[in-house]
Amino acid sequence: GAPPSSDDVAEAIHVAYDRSLDLTDGAVADYIPELADTSPDLFGICVAEVDGTVQGVGDVDHPFTIQSISKAFVWALVCEEIGDEKLIDLIGVNNTGLAFDSVMSLELNDGHPMNPMGNAGALATTALVPGDSPDEQWEFIRKGLSRFAGKDLELDEAVYRSESASNQRNQGIARLLEGYGRIGSNPLDVVDVYTKQCSLLVTATDIAVMGATLADGGINPITGARVVSETVCHDTLAVLAASGLYQNSGEWLFRIGLPGKSGVTGGIVTIAPGKAGIATFSPRLDAAGNSVRGQRATAYLSRRLGFDLFASR
Ligand code: GLN
Repeated sequence: GAPPSSDDVAEAIHVAYDRSLDLTDGAVADYIPELADTSPDLFGICVAEVDGTVQGVGDVDHPFTIQSISKAFVWALVCEEIGDEKLIDLIGVNNTGLAFDSVMSLELNDGHPMNPMGNAGALATTALVPGDSPDEQWEFIRKGLSRFAGKDLELDEAVYRSESASNQRNQGIARLLEGYGRIGSNPLDVVDVYTKQCSLLVTATDIAVMGATLADGGINPITGARVVSETVCHDTLAVLAASGLYQNSGEWLFRIGLPGKSGVTGGIVTIAPGKAGIATFSPRLDAAGNSVRGQRATAYLSRRLGFDLFASR
């Protein structure tokens, strides 16, 4: 259908905010010590349309580390470099039905990571980032994600240090990938670059623009610059539909009808292809690690704005 007017969008954002604010279920992630102090009450919603209109309510300028949301954009950048067929083969595009930090999924699948949105597949994807050294790979990621956001993204040193000191599980997953012959470079270097990519600071506004770039066939609607190809956008959205919300991706698709990606800091970016990027930020998470308010607010917006891909009209 026709895109909603910007007044419709503004009103819908406010209603979505009001209807989700009373939700206080869930808990702030604390397995990364530095995240435990995050105020649970933060809440922001931002919609960035492909025509460049950006509207929001609440804590849309509050910085948080991007965490798992980075996986979608790093995969897109790697796909642009090495192509989708290789990535389907090496990383996969099927849901595991298991938690994002599952070790068991590797054991069950002969060391194949299955998809790039779980930590195993995300680590294997980061290992494929171009560059002659971990520093070059990190710069490639930082610059690439900055192009998606339309601004220079920076590292949160405190979160990076905190996660580096507590990410033994990701180190274990990377070692296991190495054991299965699925990581070519030094696995601990890969974990370090991955931990940095997760520690990039963004706001809800930033991830809305990043989502709008995927919605707009790879052109950032604010800067006008092409970041990735249309094919890569298509592929990224398909990957997100299958596994962007981990083991709850089916339920998300059922309720929201759009590809999305969540992270443990409480962000969710959702893409309405050809129309908009929707960002929510609220740190209280459900058992799968997805923002409780974010899910409700996005479900409302998707329905209200006519974005659900499975709706007949
Ligand atoms: N950096 C986090 C981790 O690897 C990201 C996880 C997430 O956001 N789900 O555990």
